[in-house]
Amino acid sequence: MAGYEQGPIRPPSEAFSLLVRVSRNCPWNRCAFCPVYKGKKFSLRSVDEVLADLDEMKKEFGTAPRTVFLQDANPLLTKPDDFVRIIEGIRERFPNVERITAYARSHTIVRRRPEDLARMRKAGLDRLHVGMESGCDEVLELVNKGTTRDEQIEAGRRAKEAGFELSEYVMPGLGGRRLSEKHADDTASALEAIQPDFVRLRTTAVIPGTPLAELQEKGEFEPLGEVELVAEIERMLRGMKNVHTRLESDHMLNLLMELRGDLPREHERLLGICREFLQLPERLRGKFILARRLGWMGSLRQLDQVALDPEIERVWTELEKRGTDPEQFFADMRKRAV
Ligand code: SF4
Repeated sequence: MAGYEQGPIRPPSEAFSLLVRVSRNCPWNRCAFCPVYKGKKFSLRSVDEVLADLDEMKKEFGTAPRTVFLQDANPLLTKPDDFVRIIEGIRERFPNVERITAYARSHTIVRRRPEDLARMRKAGLDRLHVGMESGCDEVLELVNKGTTRDEQIEAGRRAKEAGFELSEYVMPGLGGRRLSEKHADDTASALEAIQPDFVRLRTTAVIPGTPLAELQEKGEFEPLGEVELVAEIERMLRGMKNVHTRLESDHMLNLLMELRGDLPREHERLLGICREFLQLPERLRGKFILARRLGWMGSLRQLDQVALDPEIERVWTELEKRGTDPEQFFADMRKRAV
C-alpha cells in the first residue's frame, strides 16, 4: 500500500497529475446530484501530514511529476499560511512541476481576502477548477448548490483578479426540462460576466441514491433526453458569443466530445456541431447515440460508419423489437459512466 493518502476524484484534465490530498471530503456535501463524499466528514489535514506524504511521493516518483492536483473538494479552506507552506513544499520537492491546480468552491473564494488569494497564487497555485454547474439561481437552489449566481460571478472575477487561470464546470441538463432554457441563458450570461479561461462541460446524470434521484421520483425533476441536452448546449453556446474562453468537452458523460474550441473565434463551428447532430434523421441519430454510449464510436465524424455498421444496426433493431425506451437505455448508460 502507498505510504501516502489520496482522495477519490480529480478533474478529467488532471488524469496525469500527482494527486496531493490537502483536505478530506467536502465541507458542503449537499449538492443534490453529487454522490462522491456522501456520508463522509470533511477535515483539513495538517501541514506536517501533507509534507510527509510529499516525502513518500518523492521516493516513488522522483522529480518526474509535471502537474499536481490538490484534493479533495475544497482545499482552499486551509489557512492561507499553511496553504502557502504546502505549495512551497511541493515546489521544493518537485522542481519540474509546471502547474498546480485545485478545486475551489465559489462560496470559499469570496470569503478569502484578495491579498490571501494573491499570496496563494504567488506561491505557485496556478489554476482553480470551480464547479459553477449553472449561472441560474433557480437551478442552483433546486440542486442545493449552496451558492448563488451573483456569488459565482464574484468568485470568478476575484479568482481572475488574483491571477489564477480559471476553469468553470457547467452541467448541461441540471435544470431538468422545466428550467432548461433559463439554465442555458443564465449560464451563458454568467460566463460572459466572468470570462473564465476554460469552460468544461459535464453532462448531468441522475445517480441512484442521490437527492436528485429522489427529486426525479417525486416528479420534481424531469431529466433531459440526449437530443434535448444537445439543444440546451446549442442554446447556451448561442449566448456565449462574447465569452473569450476555451470550451472543453472532456468528460465521458458528454455525448459530443468534439465540442472543443476557442471562443469567440470558433463560435460558428461549435454551433455547427450541435446543429449537425440536431438535424440528423431520427434513426441515424439514435444509432449514433447508441454507438457513442456503448463506447464504439467517438464522434460525429464517424457517422458513415454508424450508418453501415451491422452490429449497431443489430442492437438498435433489438431495442426496437423489445420496445425499449431508447432515452431510458441511454440514461442508464450515462449512470454507468460516472
Ligand atoms: S459537487 Fe462539489 S461542492 Fe457539491 S457536494 Fe459534491 S464535492 Fe461538494
